[in-house]
This record gives sequence, C-alpha cells and structure tokens, in this order.
Amino acid sequence: MAHDVVLIPGDGIGPEITAAMRRVVDATGVDIAWQVVDAGAGVMEEYGTPLPPHVLDAIAQTGVAIKGPVTTPIGTGFRSVNVALRHAFDLYACVRPCVTLPGATSRYSDIDLVVVRENTEDLYAGIEFDPGSFEADRLARLLERNGDRSFRPGSAISIKPISAEGSRRIVTYAFDYARRMGRSKVTAVHKANIMKATDGLFLRVAREVAASYPDIAFEDKIVDATCMGLVMDPHDFDVLVLPNLYGDIVSDLCAGLVGGLGMAPGANIGETCAVFEATHGSAPDIAGKDIANPTAEILSAAMMLDHLGELEAASRIRAAVATTLEAGEQVTADIRRSLTGSEEGAVGTQAFADAVIANLA
Ligand code: NAD
Repeated sequence: MAHDVVLIPGDGIGPEITAAMRRVVDATGVDIAWQVVDAGAGVMEEYGTPLPPHVLDAIAQTGVAIKGPVTTPIGTGFRSVNVALRHAFDLYACVRPCVTLPGATSRYSDIDLVVVRENTEDLYAGIEFDPGSFEADRLARLLERNGDRSFRPGSAISIKPISAEGSRRIVTYAFDYARRMGRSKVTAVHKANIMKATDGLFLRVAREVAASYPDIAFEDKIVDATCMGLVMDPHDFDVLVLPNLYGDIVSDLCAGLVGGLGMAPGANIGETCAVFEATHGSAPDIAGKDIANPTAEILSAAMMLDHLGELEAASRIRAAVATTLEAGEQVTADIRRSLTGSEEGAVGTQAFADAVIANLA
C-alpha cells in the first residue's frame, strides 16, 4: 500500500531541491502517494495566511510531511511557517544528525553526533511585545510594582517559557533515541548559571531523567563552553539535547563541522505527526539557478523513509549519496569547491540527483 506523504516545496531553492529529493525517493521503488501543497509568501494573497487550513488538514490526515525551506520575513511580517507548523502539530523534537560524509571537506573527519532540539518552548514560543506597546508597558509596570526590577523605557520584550513537562519529554526523547540508535552519551546543554529559573529547570529535569537511563552516560554543559568544545573536539560529543534557541544555533554550528548547511538533514517529530526538512533555509542568493546542493533534503527523505519503516530504501539512499560524494565527479558547486578549491566541473542540482539515482542500483 502507498504511503501518503504531504510535500511542501517551499520557496527559494525549495522547489529545486524537493524535486530532486522526490525523484530519488521514487527511484527506490517505495510507493509514495505525494500530496503537493504550497505554503509561505506565495499563498498569502490567495488565502490571507502563509499556512492555509488545507495544508494543516493534509498533514493532520497523513501524519507525515516533507518540506523545502520557506522564507520568513526578518523583523516584521508574518510569523515563520516552520515555527507555526511545529506549534500546530506539537512537533516537539527536532532531530538533526551531523555525520561526516565522504567528499565533504571539513576541519574534522569521522564526526557522528546528533542534535536534539526542543521545538515548542523557549524564546521561540512567540510571546513578544513591540517597543512602546500596551503589553510591554503593562508588563514593565507590573514588574516595577512587584519588585526592584525595571526596564529601559521603550524596551521590546520577548518571553522565554520553559516547562518541566516540555523539558522532560525532550530529554526523554533524547535518551530513548540514544538507546534505540546504540549511542552512549547524552549531553544536556544550558545556561543555568545565568538563567537560573528557566535553564535551571531544564537542567534539573534533565538530571532526573538521566537517572532512569543508567546504561547511557550523561553530562551537562553550559552552552558557550559547548560551542568551544564542539569546535575544539567534536568527537567528545554524541547526542546533545538543548532548549529551542541554543538548539537552533548549535545545529548550524554542527552542520558547519560536517561540511556545511547543504549536508545537514532534519526531522521534526511529535506524538502524531512528523515533518522532515533540511536544516538550511531558502538560500535566496542561489535560488532558481539549479546550483543548490540537494544532499540535506535527500538525507531528510532517508530519515522519513526510516520513520515510515522503509529501512532498506533509506539505507540505499544514504549509500548512494555517499558513493556520489565520494566519487566527487557529479557534485554541486559547493561540494566541488570544498573538494578541489574550484567550482570547475560542478554539475547542477538535478544532475546530482541523477547521479544519486544511478548509484541506487
Ligand atoms: P540559508 O540557510 O538559506 O543560507 C545560508 C547560506 O548557505 C547561503 O549562502 C546559501 O546560499 C547557503 N546554502 C543554504 N542551503 C544551501 C544548499 N542546499 N546548497 C548550497 N548552498 C546553500 O540561510 P539564510 O540566508 O539565513 O535564510 C534564508 C531564508 O530561509 C530566511 O527567510 C530564513 O528565515 C529561511 N529559513 C527557513 C528555514 C526552513 O524553512 N526550515 C530554515 C532556516 C532559514
């Protein structure tokens, strides 16, 4: 029976890399019934929202979606479609494996770590007040009345909620993932020395959860020290679990350790739905030129196939991507540059997908 999967092409390089991904998945022979729906700025005029109800209904029905990146206006405009999707389906766990792939030059070899980022709380919860707004002024007055704290007049305010329940389920997810995947250590990353209430709670809960997994080593690290540690020796890390904001930043840092954003796949997992997507954004600087690297999107599809129980097809895709990168001949400009120092001989996004498909056999 076919697997029903919602496909959101996204914008920028999204349509190009999702087309490449779809051809690779179809070439494995796994029967997928793709339901293609659009989200983002392109549908604003027609539906008055970047995430129309029929897109949400389709995902609720299939329980599985894969998407290309969607551009978010910076500072003003509509709220991120990605953040909205994570909230709509309570996709609380963002899982981003960072593995050194053949052919991807980086300062390190043999990196194999996984970032597990909490996706629904923290400064990304969307509780924000503009400078001079009624809410910001009221909050400032309330704090002044209740203690000795004050803000500079006209401050903008973002609120950072972290709950015991949210912390427990993400840390539990990280430990269960470590156990399932045969990994040996979980590092909880925080800034509890400064943010004693919020990060302090995350850390306390992480320690409690860790006590139930005596077979997995546990450590905690302050986020700044973690960044330095990752750059000095990433082999010290295995599974990292982080609140939302640190998770976002550290994911990109780890992607940089394994050859860049074009190489880093991801999954957003909830109790009833899962949405797969590359770590990178819509890369407007290279959109529409058939030069984007589709590796991260193709590897996100491999994670999706694992989720659907199509383990053999997922492994074949990973092996075919590795073979293509290792050969270094039919690869996109970013890979070619990191391999040879020059983009000469690079192929386009779709030609890279053709090479992966040829290597599936
Ligand atoms: P970006 O990840 O789009 O690009 C950063 C740099 O990496 C650019 O130089 C780009 O050319 C390069 N790059 C990214 N993906 C690549 C690929 N597959 N192949 C080759 N090069 C690649 O980050 P940005 O420029 O900060 O963000 C652009 C837009 O994407 C923003 O609107 C942002 O909000 C959005 N965004 C969306 C998602 C998502 O939909 N999941 C994630 C992150 C950012």
